[in-house]
Amino acid sequence: MNGPAKKTHIKALGRAGLEQWVSTLGEKPYRARQLWKWLIQRGAVSFSDMTDLSKAFRARLEATAEIKSLRQVSADGSRDTGAVKFLWECPDGNRIESVHIPEGDRRTVCISSQVGCGLGCLFCATGRLGFTRNLESWEILDQVIGVRRETGAAPTNIVVMGMGEPFLNYDAVMDALAVMNDPEGLAIGHRKITVSTAGVIPGLLRFTEENRPYKLAVSLNAATDGLRTRIMPVNRKYPIAALMEAVRAYSRAPGRRVTFEYVLLAGLNDSREDASRLLALLRGLPCKVNLIPYNPAVGGFQRPDEDRVERFLEWIKPLRSPVIVRWSRGADIGAACGQLAGSRPDRQDSPAFEGPTGGLR
Ligand code: SAH
Ligand code: SF4
Repeated sequence: MNGPAKKTHIKALGRAGLEQWVSTLGEKPYRARQLWKWLIQRGAVSFSDMTDLSKAFRARLEATAEIKSLRQVSADGSRDTGAVKFLWECPDGNRIESVHIPEGDRRTVCISSQVGCGLGCLFCATGRLGFTRNLESWEILDQVIGVRRETGAAPTNIVVMGMGEPFLNYDAVMDALAVMNDPEGLAIGHRKITVSTAGVIPGLLRFTEENRPYKLAVSLNAATDGLRTRIMPVNRKYPIAALMEAVRAYSRAPGRRVTFEYVLLAGLNDSREDASRLLALLRGLPCKVNLIPYNPAVGGFQRPDEDRVERFLEWIKPLRSPVIVRWSRGADIGAACGQLAGSRPDRQDSPAFEGPTGGLR
């Protein structure tokens, strides 16, 4: 005798897959739509939640399928900004983080694409963790479903700027974003979804070729190969000139304006010369610049004070591109850019970073 048949993990099926699976059960197509709604829009974590399904159908579902979900371990609210950092546990025990950032009518969710990150940027707590594995598509999506369920409000904006490098988990990220964007999924407009890369060129080329409609952000952080390689080892493989060529190719299509992220590290990349080099690099390119004063994470870097940031802003003014300074929100809960370090429970004892709160508890 075989053991009990393995249950179908229905969140991993996608909409078309779910329809097909429901039809193999001999059920009508509208059943698939009901299920999809419960799973994606209402964030159901069990079949018993699905109160408008008949008891008989629910019993069938229980017998043949399972709903895997990220388990919420904690949700820490920031006193000063209203940002909330969610720590989730995957079915295999790995832990990842997402951040909910309310701002006026906007509710942005910053999501993770990998457990850890293998690119090892010196200033980033996730980089310090190293790489454990790629997240599956449903795990990427479930962060948004979970935040929606826990906050009781539909997110309006998504940024793939949490743990991990999205272009090294390209397919799963794009599948998840498609459901977020789907009018019958989470219905978040494609211009309200941003993917941030440390400059993984093959991913950027694919993103360009496939004409993905989402916004693109590139973490530049330094304007010379010497410095960039020092703080972002990925630059050895994908140096600045090649990266800029790929960005220019992306920018050729109308309406595509890339955002460059530039983490300001006091005394390292915030001098007048750094500003001039940045100007030279970006001249003529339709772009925006996000200056992110370094958030205390790893690597012993210094955050520049407001005066220094102001000076840098003045220096890059000739660019005439929109420049914003992102004084990150949620630093008091270790949820600002670069501070995410959700780890395995067995790694919890060693603080992954010395943030303002002394690391993750
Ligand atoms: N791996 C992708 C996306 C996640 S990182 C990437 O690197 O683009 C999101 C952003 O946080 C990047 O722009 C990164 O440069 C920035 N960042 C990392 N550590 C930081 C820190 N300590 N302070 C401020 N920004 C940081
Ligand atoms: Fe990875 Fe981005 Fe952190 Fe660099 S900044 S280590 S690419 S998550």
